[in-house]
Amino acid sequence: MLFDLHCHTNASDGTLSPEALLQRAIEHDVDVLSITDHDCITAFSQLQTDAAKACLNNLTLIPGIELSAQWRNTAVHILGFNFRIADPAILEAVTQQQTARRKRAWMIAERLEKRGLNNIKPQVEKLGDDISIGRPHIANILVAEGKVRSVDEAFRKYLGSGKIGDVKNQWATLEQVIEWIRDAGGTAVIAHPNKYRLTRTRLLELVGEFKALGGHGLEVVSGRQENHESKTLATLCEQFGLLSSCGSDFHKPGQPWAELGKHKSLPDNCVPVWNHW
Ligand code: AMP
Ligand code: MN
Ligand code: MN
Ligand code: MN
Repeated sequence: MLFDLHCHTNASDGTLSPEALLQRAIEHDVDVLSITDHDCITAFSQLQTDAAKACLNNLTLIPGIELSAQWRNTAVHILGFNFRIADPAILEAVTQQQTARRKRAWMIAERLEKRGLNNIKPQVEKLGDDISIGRPHIANILVAEGKVRSVDEAFRKYLGSGKIGDVKNQWATLEQVIEWIRDAGGTAVIAHPNKYRLTRTRLLELVGEFKALGGHGLEVVSGRQENHESKTLATLCEQFGLLSSCGSDFHKPGQPWAELGKHKSLPDNCVPVWNHW
């Protein structure tokens, strides 16, 4: 069975519609998929079409979300799986995080305009209220406006860590995010633990706190990750008594390092998150 428990649709910063994502997952032999859009679950309500329902005969879909959380001075991503999708705790999470995302997008636009990059705010407004706005959307605007040549350049110059558009400290706390997921009956997992550029000591502190707060697991296998990194994360799971998860972190076609279902399998010593679903 092929599990891909991390991917995005155009409800957040992916490019495919939820239906197209399901179709692509099936083409890539995924058996169990979790859509984990950033701080939103709207993709799940968009799967009522006949074509989408037909896909669900060939694929098991697990409720999912990737919640942004503040841990000390670092923004970390916490995956929530297999929760009750209409639970008040999830609705509260989504509402609060969307407010934070809109505020932040506006602050980023303001800062960029102060820097002399005009016409960003109107473009942010045009994105509308239905999607979960992130820095990739603003990167796309900067490309479309001719301010940079690529999304990569947008992150390097304006949006990446430490740059003017890297607005901090508006996410819910780690404790709150774990509580939302647990209250809705879900499983909480630290997404791509190696992406936060934490020292070994700080990573151990994060994992220890996460476990103490009721977190369930680590994403041991992610797209674009070396085997030795997965092994180290699997050992961390063993040490802390945590479950393990795997996913591609697919955002769009044309990125073979993060293609649906193309991630490596979990190391043998892992206890998969889906074992108790
Ligand atoms: P946000 O959710 O607004 O903090 O934006 C984070 C998202 O931006 C991540 O989930 C990635 O999809 C994307 N991202 C982060 N860093 C980069 C980068 N250097 N180049 C392109 N995309 C990035
Ligand atoms: Mn993303
Ligand atoms: Mn992430
Ligand atoms: Mn992701």
